[in-house]
Amino acid sequence: MKKNHIIALLIIAVVLILDSIAGIEFREMKIQEKIHPTKTLTKESSLSEYCTNLQGKSGDAKIYFFDSGNLGATVLVLGGTHPNETAGFISALVLIENMDIKQGRFIIIPQACSSGFTCTDPMEGTPQSFTIETNSGPRKFRFGSRVSNPLDQWPDPLVYSHYPSGQQLSGFETRNLNRSYPGRSNGSFTETVGFAIMELIRLEKVDVAIDLHEASPEAPIINAIIVHEKCREIGASAVLNLEFEDLQYALEISPKKFRGLSHREWGDATDVYPFLMETSNPIQGRLRGKTNSILITDGLDDQYERAVRTKSFRISYELAGEPLSLRVGRHIQGIKAILDSYNEYSNDKKIVYENIPSYDDLVENGVGSYLR
Ligand SMILES: [Zn+2]
Repeated sequence: MKKNHIIALLIIAVVLILDSIAGIEFREMKIQEKIHPTKTLTKESSLSEYCTNLQGKSGDAKIYFFDSGNLGATVLVLGGTHPNETAGFISALVLIENMDIKQGRFIIIPQACSSGFTCTDPMEGTPQSFTIETNSGPRKFRFGSRVSNPLDQWPDPLVYSHYPSGQQLSGFETRNLNRSYPGRSNGSFTETVGFAIMELIRLEKVDVAIDLHEASPEAPIINAIIVHEKCREIGASAVLNLEFEDLQYALEISPKKFRGLSHREWGDATDVYPFLMETSNPIQGRLRGKTNSILITDGLDDQYERAVRTKSFRISYELAGEPLSLRVGRHIQGIKAILDSYNEYSNDKKIVYENIPSYDDLVENGVGSYLR
């Protein structure tokens, strides 16, 4: 065999090996993590039950129902609206894997934009997954993209025109679930997901809905609870009670003219009281240095530390980092405060549940202690 042939064969072999590795990684993004609900789970369903157009599609996110059987309030919690905002998804899992429901109902969607969990954002260099140590061993979870996978919705228009307001945003936002409410059943892929969630809120007569997010440490709205104006008192009393527990949350009122967001559209179109929470997540920041799976879980970043020490920017970043356990702790404690406050304001309907760890529990023991 000539030398050239041997080189050509070697190149083909290397290409095949690299292709196989890439193929395995690509397939891994589609594998669903195992979730282990508590015994109080009464039903497992998915969004296509509320919009049949989602049947068989990757937007057909799973829904977990915890019904006490005792008359009370219905609460919806959404994690994973933005699959690169890990604390939202993991907080929803902590609820699902610890919930003991006593009165009313919890409906939990841990990966609301399930399509976004099957890819990562281009040009960000983010990892595809991260690991949390639990008492029964390590568990691997996916890290996703802010928006739906382009394989599910493509191409993006130059300008995204929100339905039905006509508000214009950059074309990329056409795949952003939290710009796609109220959505429509026959609209774009992401609009269909938004529509299904709106239908769930209407048909299940949800009383309180909480959408869990994260943002970069330099974002203007951070460590905050954003409320629709109709439930500002509930939000204000929650923030005050959190302050007594030494936890600071800014209270923001949903802007009336910014359309497509959960806290605006859910509240305008249905009877629900909507809330959205934000924590500070360095992996989403422009200033971040080394981007790897440890940054997701430990939330420690040299560049943010430098920015705090030199007072270069106005940012929400603790020198000890923004670890996942703390960010999940803030979400969980925020949910508890909102629901306590709702119970005080509501005369007839209450939500009562047990066994959910507190902020202190999560920070002290680590989030892995509360995942099965
Ligand atoms: Zn978000």
